[in-house]
This record gives sequence, structure tokens and C-alpha cells, in this order.
Amino acid sequence: MVVVTRGRAVAAAAIVSGPALATLGYLALSKRPAPPPPTEWVAESASTQGPVRAVFAGVSTVCLDDGETTLLVDGFFSRPPARRVLLGRIAPDVAAIEDGLRRMAVSSAAAVIVTHSHYDHALDAPEVARQSGADLIGSASTLMLGRGAGLPADRLRRAEPGEAMTYGAFEVRVVATEHSPKPAWPGPITGPVHPPTRASAYKMGTCFIVHITHTDSGGRRRRLLLQASAGYVPGSLLDAPAEVAFLGVPTLGKQPPQYREAYWRETVTVPGVRRVLPVHWDDFTDGRSADDDLRPLPSLFDDLDVTREFLAAKRAAEGVEFAFPRRWRPFDPWAGA
Ligand SMILES: [Zn+2]
Repeated sequence: MVVVTRGRAVAAAAIVSGPALATLGYLALSKRPAPPPPTEWVAESASTQGPVRAVFAGVSTVCLDDGETTLLVDGFFSRPPARRVLLGRIAPDVAAIEDGLRRMAVSSAAAVIVTHSHYDHALDAPEVARQSGADLIGSASTLMLGRGAGLPADRLRRAEPGEAMTYGAFEVRVVATEHSPKPAWPGPITGPVHPPTRASAYKMGTCFIVHITHTDSGGRRRRLLLQASAGYVPGSLLDAPAEVAFLGVPTLGKQPPQYREAYWRETVTVPGVRRVLPVHWDDFTDGRSADDDLRPLPSLFDDLDVTREFLAAKRAAEGVEFAFPRRWRPFDPWAGA
């Protein structure tokens, strides 16, 4: 997701209208819901006993590791500040990427699978692939980012819905989906991107849900999906059952109730998900201070309180658990599913 359209208007208004409007803009952007309470996070003592360890890095960047093979979904650690996103140029912050991979205990990886090419998902993905030796998997637009970064052609893998990609005991598929409503910078990227460049160069391209099956040494299959943005295509997950969903919730709290219901039905009910791990609720312009707790998006863009109430109501009515992943803390994504 990118939600800078109104932010850009605020910033532009501040520039042309001076301090009074700048103050108003600041107040509008600084008002935000509280983070989830301790009871709604993945437990500090969460099990890491399962065959796969997951680590969340903020927004929708997640790594999965079974001790043999490491996968990443999305690659975003740099978290450039809003003024640079809106008015300047952005580029991968190599030190932030190295730090993030170290905190996730990722030294090498097999693949980085990118959900769509907006900068808050894809900015750092080519550099993550370069540092970790991974394939970069994504839409034609995402591969243009890899070409701009100089990744060799044999490490760029075009994601095709329905095609199974095998990495060790993981099988990866992508399902075409929609972005949350009114995305910034729609359309494809048509040529290699060379950062530093405007955030708007990171056009959305095709959006994917990533579906991952892990088969352990005893032959047990576990399945999860990751939908980064809060969009859906009716029926798209009919053939993609999963016990667990990393569920992108950006702007969900601002959508009409019927939209939330439809998103839930298509992304949780249809694939049979029993445990929801909400992601992409954090303010991704909030700097990269890795030790700081993540902060929710400003109230101007989203209302995490509404989303949390919705998740709690679904747990009560349907028995689907939810827990917010803690940043940098390994956990078993299927524990409790
Ligand atoms: Zn996006």
C-alpha cells in the first residue's frame, strides 16, 4: 500500500501556505490510534518449536525459515521519512537492510517474493536479493527494479499465477489480487528503475497474494498465505486453502463495513484460515529505528481501532484467532492454528 496521496496534498499545502497550514498538517498526521494492547500480540513466549520460523520486519516484510531454506516475502527496511517520499528521492538504505537481515537472522536466502512494486514492499527487495543470494520473484514491474539494480537475469523470476515454484521443502505460488482501494501510482513499471528516484517511480504493477506450502520431514503439510494489501478478487482463493494468513490491513479501518466483510470472506473464510496475523498496519514513514515499537498509521489514513474491533468480533463469532506479530521476534506461524 501507499497512502501518500492526501499526505502529499498536506505537504504541498504546507509549502505554499506557510506555517499555519504546516501546523495543521502536522497535527493531522500526528494524531494516530494507540498500538494494539499486549494481549493482542503474538505471545513473548510464542512457540518456535514448529518446523518453520517466521520473523516480521514491519509493513509486510516477513521471512520464513525451516533451517534449510529461507524465503522472504517483500523486502522493505529503509523506511524513508515522509518528506523524502513526498518531495525528494528515495533509495535503499544498505545499512538498514544489513541490520534488518541480521535481526531476522538471515544470512542467505533462496527467494524474495514481492507482492507488488510500491516502494513500501519492493524498494529494498533487489538489494536483499543481492545480499542474500536470493532469486527475486515478482511481476514484470518488480523485475524492472531488479534490472535497475543490476541483478543477473538468471536471478529474476517472473511470477505466474498457478505456477508452483519449489525451494527446498517450500512450494510457492502467487494468486493475482487487487490492491486496497484507490492505490497511489497504479500501472506497470516499463523500464529499469535506478534509485535514488521519486517514490512515484515505484508504480504498483500486478498485485499478488503469496501462498506457501511447507512439507516437513514427516510429510505433514502446512499452508499459509500473505496478502499484503487489503484488496481482493472474489473467488481467487477457492483453490488456495491455508490455515494461516498474514493479513494486510492497511486502510481497512476506513473502509465501509461491507468492504471489511467481503475482504474477510474472500481472504480468510474462503481459504479456511484459522489464524490471522495482521500486517501492514504500521506507519512505514516512521524512520528505521529498529528498536522502537512500530506505530500505527496516522488517523488521517487509517483507523486501527476499527480493524482491531473487527478482528475481535470475528474471533468471537467464528473462532478465528488473531495475533499481531512482534517485530524481529521469531515465532511459529502455525502455532494455535
Ligand atoms: Zn501498495
